[in-house]
Amino acid sequence: MYDKKNIFAKIIEKKLPSTIVYEDDSIMAFKDTMPIAPIHIIVIPKGDFIDYSYFIKQSSKEEIAYFFTKLYEIAHKECGGDFRICTNNGPKSGQTIFHFHAHIISGKNLGDLG
Ligand code: AMP
Repeated sequence: MYDKKNIFAKIIEKKLPSTIVYEDDSIMAFKDTMPIAPIHIIVIPKGDFIDYSYFIKQSSKEEIAYFFTKLYEIAHKECGGDFRICTNNGPKSGQTIFHFHAHIISGKNLGDLG
């Protein structure tokens, strides 16, 4: 079950501070507080989705297309040509915050990260 007190839910509600790089009615993007590269941005839909699987199953095709188009636009604006986009789906994948989010990572040779 979705936990409305997770860190990203609090960031959406502005109950926790964040460095926002993009926001509209349905999406928010902000800097990761423990970046693994010079550019590390978290992008989230504002809806209550635990992970990527829930987002895909519970959203319309239009909502999914909007999220992934914006994800591209934010990555391109913040990083230029080269970037990595990834998401962890479930505890065994390394997911630690259970509000669906995509990571945009860039600004160094990502081959070094594995
Ligand atoms: P994941 O392990 O895929 O769930 O990713 C969670 C990410 O959230 C990690 O990269 C953390 O560094 C990041 N994170 C944790 N707390 C915050 C916060 N308050 N603001 C921004 N990013 C955070």
